[in-house]
Amino acid sequence: MLIRLLSFALFQGVGALLAAIFMRAFAPPQGSVVVASLVGALGACYFWLLWDLSRGLRVMRWLQSEETREVAVQAGLWGEFSNRIRRLLRHNERAVQQRDERLQEFLAAMQASPNGVVLLDKDFRIEWFNQSAALHFGLDARRDMEQHFANLVRDPSFAAYVAAKDFENDVLMPGRAHTSSLPVRLSVHVHPYGEGRSLLLSRDVTAVEQAEAMRRDFVANVSHEIRTPLTVLGGFVETLQSLPLNESERAHYLDLMAQQASRMQSLVSDLLTLSRLEGSPPPSTHEWVDVSMLTEQCRQEAGELSRVLWGQTHSLSFEVQGGLSLAGSSAELHSAFFNLIGNAVRYTPAGKSIRVIVSATDDGGALFAVHDQGMGIAQEHIPRLTERFYRVDRSRSRDTGGTGLGLAIVKHVVQRHGAELSITSVPGEGSHFQILFPSQRVRYQVVPSLQDALAV
Ligand code: ADP
Repeated sequence: MLIRLLSFALFQGVGALLAAIFMRAFAPPQGSVVVASLVGALGACYFWLLWDLSRGLRVMRWLQSEETREVAVQAGLWGEFSNRIRRLLRHNERAVQQRDERLQEFLAAMQASPNGVVLLDKDFRIEWFNQSAALHFGLDARRDMEQHFANLVRDPSFAAYVAAKDFENDVLMPGRAHTSSLPVRLSVHVHPYGEGRSLLLSRDVTAVEQAEAMRRDFVANVSHEIRTPLTVLGGFVETLQSLPLNESERAHYLDLMAQQASRMQSLVSDLLTLSRLEGSPPPSTHEWVDVSMLTEQCRQEAGELSRVLWGQTHSLSFEVQGGLSLAGSSAELHSAFFNLIGNAVRYTPAGKSIRVIVSATDDGGALFAVHDQGMGIAQEHIPRLTERFYRVDRSRSRDTGGTGLGLAIVKHVVQRHGAELSITSVPGEGSHFQILFPSQRVRYQVVPSLQDALAV
């Protein structure tokens, strides 16, 4: 400011001095030097003001322009003013940029959310939504922005929820992609915030609802499976208590009771096996199970089962390639193998043949297969066979001590060992169950034949 005053005074001084020199040099002798100096100073004063105004105008034009990196005036008050404004603008620009980046990061995080997020204004019009919300409600970013949300989502339960304006709880509704064969269920919750705005969150609860339905079905099935033998058992107890029976009749009833008790025992044991399979860590990849020993054990048990159920044995053949070991749990593998062999025995009439084949595959894996000549299974049942309690022939299953859980156990064991189960069957001709183990779980050691061994 001082420089500005000094420059103003200097201008006036120089103006007055120049005017006085001019007067002395060129003006007539009667001309007053004092008046000339005053006029010179006044002229310099106007000149200074014009010069200052032009600098001010340059600064003004610079401020109006988009390009503010290079200041229009460097020195003086206007220069200082321009520099300070430029610094302030830079600071603001940086702050806006940072805020913008943070907003973008925040929006990216909301985009990444598996839950749907919709921001609604005070009239319930869409301001923003993420990709999951677009999928849940079939929204289109170009078409639906600023549209009334309730006009786009017309589900009656959601409409009633919005009309009631009671947003304490969520509402359940079908998603946009919902069909009767492929249900999609959403939980939608509106959270009011700010001045009349709302945050709408949607969550795909299809899997949760299905799990809940499965749990209900499972409990109902288990109760039903247990209640049937329990009712029969209760009936026999009543008979024993109320009727005067002779020794052989009494022994007969006790036999029947023992059968029902063993049925319940099998059911509980299969349920425990299933829950162990679901709850325990994956089977080891370092523990090697000798397949020949495992199948030998299954062969003896199958022969026994065949005799107990049918009074005579089937034509059981085991073609097991020696030297094969599988990485995994011996108990689980035995359970899976014997469930398949046991089913073949139970669903194949005596005298018919059952073949069990174990061999290495070309890709280094291993195959375990059971072929039977039993009643076979109609095609429509095959995809559902591994569901819990799913039975094709209910009475045959019950009569032979089946629990309806055998193939569910097999499926679990197969999955836990990274293997694949495939089932093919022709009704009236027989069935073919096969497990393919991946090479990572198979070890194959060439076993020398007896002749080779003797030759050595
Ligand atoms: P279950 O204890 O009833 O045998 P599973 O889960 O082992 O239960 O089998 C499910 C159903 O699949 C059985 O009830 C039966 O109807 C059918 N099934 C399984 N294996 C065979 C087979 N080898 N031949 C014919 N039907 C079979």
